[in-house]
Amino acid sequence: MQRFFGTAGQLILTSHGSSRTNMARFIFITGGVVSSLGKGLASAALGALLQARGYSVRLRKLDPYLNVDPGTMSPFEHGEVFVTDDGAETDLDLGHYERFTGVAARKTDSVSSGRIYSNVLEKERRGDYLGKTIQVIPHVTNEIKDFIAIGEDEVDFMLCEIGGTVGDIEGLPFFEAIRQFSQDKPRGQCIFMHLTLLPYIKASGELKTKPTQHSVKELRSIGLAPDILVCRSEGPIPKKEREKLALFCNVRPDSVIAAQDLSTIYDAPLAYHKEGLDQAVLDAFQISPAPKPDLAKWEDVSDRIHNAEGEVKVAIVGKYTQLEDAYKSIAEALTHGGMANRVKVKVEWVDAEVFDTEDAAPHLEGFHAILVPGGFGERGTEGKIKAAQYAREHKVPYLGICLGMQMAVIEAARNAAGIAEAGSEEFDHEAGKRRFEPVVYHLKEWVQGNHKVERKVGDDKGGTMRLGAYNAVLAEGSKVAEVYGGTQIEERHRHRYEVDIKYREKLEKAGLNFSGMSPDGRLPEIVEWSDHPWFIGVQYHPELKSKPFDPHPLFRDFVRAAKDSSRLV
Ligand code: GLN
Repeated sequence: MQRFFGTAGQLILTSHGSSRTNMARFIFITGGVVSSLGKGLASAALGALLQARGYSVRLRKLDPYLNVDPGTMSPFEHGEVFVTDDGAETDLDLGHYERFTGVAARKTDSVSSGRIYSNVLEKERRGDYLGKTIQVIPHVTNEIKDFIAIGEDEVDFMLCEIGGTVGDIEGLPFFEAIRQFSQDKPRGQCIFMHLTLLPYIKASGELKTKPTQHSVKELRSIGLAPDILVCRSEGPIPKKEREKLALFCNVRPDSVIAAQDLSTIYDAPLAYHKEGLDQAVLDAFQISPAPKPDLAKWEDVSDRIHNAEGEVKVAIVGKYTQLEDAYKSIAEALTHGGMANRVKVKVEWVDAEVFDTEDAAPHLEGFHAILVPGGFGERGTEGKIKAAQYAREHKVPYLGICLGMQMAVIEAARNAAGIAEAGSEEFDHEAGKRRFEPVVYHLKEWVQGNHKVERKVGDDKGGTMRLGAYNAVLAEGSKVAEVYGGTQIEERHRHRYEVDIKYREKLEKAGLNFSGMSPDGRLPEIVEWSDHPWFIGVQYHPELKSKPFDPHPLFRDFVRAAKDSSRLV
């Protein structure tokens, strides 16, 4: 058995997974200069590299905005909402974390200022503070520190990313909290990694270090000194600039890590390893000797992406097509499906609204598969229904996710089962004035585990959907049972409306089979056309569980079907 000892001399890892005796080491990741530098990705890649060296990790995101969670934020504002097994609506960075580490995120891995303040205010109302004046320091900072420490005895490394950039007003309590946290812990148990940008000035042919210097100065003014600088740049960082950054920002030259632009995010672990990020982190914790990394998994991932044989074209017919982040996990899951089949998946975003009024065919011709993703609200839905119809009639592989499944059911009801007025209750706002026959209705009670959940019209919008992991039972002999290779599945949900089981008979008679149901048999989870090569609608979000090294079976097989149809075209 190999043993590694850290600064404090505690046993931190036994390479054969036997018991650990200490608390996690903490890596705090902050950002400076500009936003959108890929902090989430850097954190996720570092998590993967630590795992490759045999450590266990958990990643956490602290978001300074005031929404309680991103569940009520528009995808245009904030990109996709990532749902965890335990039903939290979280930031899309948690998707990166899961895709790179395979560690299922939990409710306790994502928090915002809104959540922190609402916890503090709840405690204040309850009288928990025993008459004290409630202040940012210590009450808000304590709440943040308590959150950071949840489950600290479970892993070797806890990576905590602070959203936003240093200097943001909302971020201050978080920066203060991590400063205090590192003081509360024994020396050497926390390190700070700061991600910045080195702009390249073409005219002088120089990489500029000044914005990074200022950003570090800003950090130091609030008591934080980075141990590691990760610098985004278009090209490599020359020795001169590296030394300058080290000198002015008070870090070691080998802790200045270049993060060059990559053609695929899945090269990030290998690229960061080559730059020495994981070594710099272990050095900062004075872990010696450092366990050797096993990067075979990431080499395979990278090989599959770079050495694809052929390309398939998939149309994503959705509403939030201007912002690709709105469908982040779907795009990634398609990439994973491509990797499994050794093809490149070329995604084209088709705005469903365009064929609310126009014929869908000219917009959909030439695609090897069509995917209609989740969504909310009526806008664009007639277009999505047309997309489902096109896929059914032209035998193009179709994957409908959540709203995309509901649209496929409405299409089947209207055009194959003779229910001309079929629609969703989601779009019938005016009470008493029904425009549609609700084949998709507002779900007001369901079973979770062994208790009943109930909802009313007019409930709060935040956190009240059917959220998180639920089981489904697949019909023996169905297409999905073949795809999954079994009949028991667990998938993540996020929806308020549901296909009404009372239409099952009519729809099945028309050829649309209900091939997956909730265990109590009341909620349709999956539908599939019997006389179609590949047409599946799912009420849940399979994309949330797909990994590059473990592609989701539905995406793997959907891309395989696209590959088959590309050979026919
Ligand atoms: N708006 C639909 C519902 O609430 C679909 C939700 C989704 O696609 N995530 O049921």
